[in-house]
Amino acid sequence: METQEGIFQKTLIDFHGIDEELIQKMVYDALVWCSLHGLVVGDKSVQRSGKVPGVGLVHAPFALLPMAFPESHWNLACEVAPIFNELIDRVSLDGKFLQEALSRTKKVDAFTSGLLDIHSKMLEINKKEEIRLGLHRSDYMLDEKTKLLLQIELNTISSSFAGLSCRVSELHRSLLNYYGEHIGLDPRRIPGNASVDKFAEALAKACTEYNRPRALVMVVVQPEERNMYDQHWLCAELKDRYPFNLLYKIDEEGEILPDGTLLVGGQEISVVYFRAGYAPTDYPSEAEWRARLLMEQSSAVKCPSISYQLAGTKKIQQELAKPNMLERFLDNKEDIAKLRKCFAGLWSLEDSDIIKKAIERPELFVMKPQREGGGNNIYNDDVRTNLVRLQKEGTQEDAAYILMQRIFPAVSLTFLVREGICHKEHAVSELGVYGAYLRNKEKVIVNEQCGYLVRTKVSSSNEGGVAAGFAVLDSIYLN
Ligand code: ADP
Ligand code: MG
Ligand code: MG
Repeated sequence: METQEGIFQKTLIDFHGIDEELIQKMVYDALVWCSLHGLVVGDKSVQRSGKVPGVGLVHAPFALLPMAFPESHWNLACEVAPIFNELIDRVSLDGKFLQEALSRTKKVDAFTSGLLDIHSKMLEINKKEEIRLGLHRSDYMLDEKTKLLLQIELNTISSSFAGLSCRVSELHRSLLNYYGEHIGLDPRRIPGNASVDKFAEALAKACTEYNRPRALVMVVVQPEERNMYDQHWLCAELKDRYPFNLLYKIDEEGEILPDGTLLVGGQEISVVYFRAGYAPTDYPSEAEWRARLLMEQSSAVKCPSISYQLAGTKKIQQELAKPNMLERFLDNKEDIAKLRKCFAGLWSLEDSDIIKKAIERPELFVMKPQREGGGNNIYNDDVRTNLVRLQKEGTQEDAAYILMQRIFPAVSLTFLVREGICHKEHAVSELGVYGAYLRNKEKVIVNEQCGYLVRTKVSSSNEGGVAAGFAVLDSIYLN
């Protein structure tokens, strides 16, 4: 015990006022819990940790206690999940809208242009996706001043942390089961989080719809991935519960049979699940673009298809926030009103009034390129600098960006645990609600909310990615 106490001393930083001994015990228990329950990521200080599973593991960064969150906002975020799923599906079917809305962006953004090229080829051959699978995550921040739950973005490709986020809820529940009475928190106020089960179930159902028993699910991953355990949790869940195989990588040439069947390494693929393909770096050569095109041309279920991926871009988010746009895709007025309430201010850079305002008050805006994965946005003085530069240059480069109202969530003191060390920091949180959607022609098979993710970051940091090293995983405590 003495040695352990010694470690506690070193792992704690600056806890004035709070029962330090209790916090120390909780941190220790939490670190043990993570190790025993696979709440882990690759340790970046170990070279092979992103390539070889089981080598160089460290606990995922986490918040020691769940974030307090109003129940009414939680209910709203759950309610809109299936509506957003439906919206993405409808938008994905409107090829002309996607092409037109992204036409200016296409000219200046080679990556988006690559996706749009594949998309136009599919339009030309009139390719229809009969089985459509979306594993989405809609992210929100609760704006402190207006008390509105505002959407940050909706991810339609590679929505991460379904595997680890449910573990974090379990970790918090376990800590509160033991320590809750001492600190006045009730474990039952942490909502159930079945994210990984639900995503596995939706993937499995897509295979059932595809209906070829020997076909494989192919998971397309990046060659180096420190968040691999999150992906392995989902794959393990799929393997345990459903009797089919997984091909966990694309390192072999694929081909398409005349009937559309996708073969990789000679084996038929039922579902292609992308945990890569969302960033320009995922396409280092023409070969990756050709592979993406091949998969899109095939009859395999793509999660996501090119049109689902495009429907999740920030430019489309901004287009959908324009007046009367939701009405174009959805019928139910109440549903439309619920979604619209979650929309923050979103503008194209063609809007000269807003450019003027953003140059005057850049701290009230975020400038976003068409990128995923965190770390790409522009904040504060850089917004001004970039807007002024774009104005001066007078090129079309402005089409690469959108402007968004900056959301300011409440700041609270939080215990963040990283690499075995607990820091007490002023932090803000972002709630992500997972949604799964599966349909086969006219039949909607799955359309539901699938658990949640909370990411908490130091309030002085602009970006919020966990994998990118800005945030920690968290869960919610309803109040
Ligand atoms: P990405 O697809 O790269 O995750 P996001 O739109 O989610 O892009 O932006 C990344 C992060 O930047 C978010 O997780 C959030 O922390 C912060 N962010 C994005 N938009 C806003 C906004 N409007 N107000 C405040 N913070 C934002
Ligand atoms: Mg994103
Ligand atoms: Mg994001």
